Amino acid sequence: MPSNTALYAVARLRDRSGPVIEAQVQQILAWLVLPGAAEDWHLPGIKVAGRGRYLAVPPASWVNGQWSGAPSTRWLIPPHGTCLTDAKSLHDVLAEVIRETPAMNGTAGYRSPECCMNDHEACTKAEAPPPPRESSVIYEACDCPCHEALRRALRRISQTGGER
Ligand SMILES: [Zn+2]
Ligand SMILES: [Zn+2]
Repeated sequence: MPSNTALYAVARLRDRSGPVIEAQVQQILAWLVLPGAAEDWHLPGIKVAGRGRYLAVPPASWVNGQWSGAPSTRWLIPPHGTCLTDAKSLHDVLAEVIRETPAMNGTAGYRSPECCMNDHEACTKAEAPPPPRESSVIYEACDCPCHEALRRALRRISQTGGER
């Protein structure tokens, strides 16, 4: 989950949260749950790393932030106990936080999964493709602010291009 929103979940879970891994460059927080416990989750902006996926797990001693010259992946909440978070509590809190966050619940305009995960360079939805003929499907362009510069540039081209 993108860290800026995930931090609200950390605050709300308090003692119920198991260890949390933070990828500081990608700005993602990760919790560990029992295998399969999150398989049927449908939460926007949350990626469930199931079977066949890898998760970079830092050594237990990597608990310092980047600002202290430490590695960019660290334990935001250090490993303890079973290292697992109760999937039900986690799901409920994440759902709550998503409901209250316009950038994640859809009321702030469409965001591609890539941009939701802070992987802005991978986003290919900056421009809405023209809808196929005789189709009522409406494609939405990604509303992430990371595309603003690109959109401005395109607008400039379409404005000046027409005069020649
Ligand atoms: Zn973006
Ligand atoms: Zn995007």
